[in-house]
Amino acid sequence: MSRNVVVVGGGIVGCATAYFAAREGMKVTLLEKQTIAFGASGRNPGFVWLHCRNPGFALEISRAGRALYPQLLEELPGGFEFRARGGLIYFNNEQQGAVFEEFVAARRADGLDIELIDGAEVRRLVPPIRPDVLGASFCSEDAQINTPTVVRALAAGARREGADIREGVSVEGLVFSGEEVVGVETDHGRVEADAVVMAAGAWSNPLLKSAGIDLPVGGERLQVVATEPLPFQIQPVVYGPLATKQYTLFRELPSWDPELFRAPYESEQGIEMLQLVAQRASGEVLVGCPMDYPAEIDLRPTLSGLRATAEAIGEDFPALADAPVARTWAGVLPYTTDMVPVIDEARPGLFIAAGHVFGNAAGPVTGRLITQLMAGQEPEIDLTECRFGRPLGPTDTGVPARW
Ligand SMILES: Cc1cc2nc3c(=O)[nH]c(=O)nc-3n(C[C@H](O)[C@H](O)[C@H](O)COP(=O)(O)OP(=O)(O)OC[C@H]3O[C@@H](n4cnc5c(N)ncnc54)[C@H](O)[C@@H]3O)c2cc1C
Repeated sequence: MSRNVVVVGGGIVGCATAYFAAREGMKVTLLEKQTIAFGASGRNPGFVWLHCRNPGFALEISRAGRALYPQLLEELPGGFEFRARGGLIYFNNEQQGAVFEEFVAARRADGLDIELIDGAEVRRLVPPIRPDVLGASFCSEDAQINTPTVVRALAAGARREGADIREGVSVEGLVFSGEEVVGVETDHGRVEADAVVMAAGAWSNPLLKSAGIDLPVGGERLQVVATEPLPFQIQPVVYGPLATKQYTLFRELPSWDPELFRAPYESEQGIEMLQLVAQRASGEVLVGCPMDYPAEIDLRPTLSGLRATAEAIGEDFPALADAPVARTWAGVLPYTTDMVPVIDEARPGLFIAAGHVFGNAAGPVTGRLITQLMAGQEPEIDLTECRFGRPLGPTDTGVPARW
């Protein structure tokens, strides 16, 4: 079906939608309030993470998304940074190790290519890590992207297929004809369409509210510190033990004990750490990520976040202690309380593609799925779990989002 499509938002989901829809022959206009990759997609450290993805839909869409990258590398103009060198979560003591043994056994039963590796192997893969690191879970299916390079390549691909990509245009509301959505109002005037795709990440809910549509997608702030380029050493993407509490698959293990995965400075700074390290091809090392939940979208890093990051990384990566800091930033990760995005036609002509916790894995393939929905085709993945209007909790409660 040929359609006249407006995509709202120039992140990984919106740009992938523009690319796949234009390739399908649809007339596409993408409207981005700021610049392409201004939002979460321009601010994340690039984990394409299957390691802790819940079995079922989350793992299925992540695998499909991970498999799409080599194909996109061939197709998109200008290319992008993609590294398929796996991912690991290290641990520092025997008690933590017992939890990891159970975790790896459970994940192998889910069919993941994952194993326990010893401290010597962790040090080989991640040279700046503490010398007494004891081991890690290592998953060869994880990968890394330089996310803004992917988003810009998708936008370039969409343009090549005829899409009109407009930056600096803010969508202010939806235009209806009866029940049907027939366009958007922007700060540059009305744009008509017979399909509107809401792909504005954490901004989607405030935008839809003006049309009386409640989309329970919240925003979690995460902060990142980037060093200046260092000699390239770190191949996989790396999580520390403090990151495990974020994942249901760890928290539900019989051996799980939250005390083993909590650091004193988290309570002192009032902020939990998604402890991580990743190195880009340029050599810059990204470290983070303190997590909190400001009432309004707030893209500013905080001193308490920076202090917690310095403690978490300083303790486990002594070799990075004197690394010169180039930049710090914060981003807002969109989420739903069941951690599955909304990918659905919510009203006639209104398609929602928002609430992605793990957009690096699921973002590009979401663009293809939404295009299939707009074309009236059966989506390649069963989207029952992503439907709009399923029971979801509120996200403005201050309760940490757990994945
Ligand atoms: C610090 C951080 C670390 C993360 N780490 C990872 C990770 O390692 N792996 C992973 O898979 N995921 C990670 N995530 C989550 C990931 O970034 C998101 O899942 C993904 O980027 C969401 O993409 P999106 O396109 O839905 O939203 P966004 O990238 O946020 O794009 C939404 C766009 O909509 C635009 N917009 C807003 N309002 C309007 C308007 N009124 N009109 C027009 N445009 C508008 C915004 O400017 C923005 O560019 C992380 C997120 C953060 C913040």
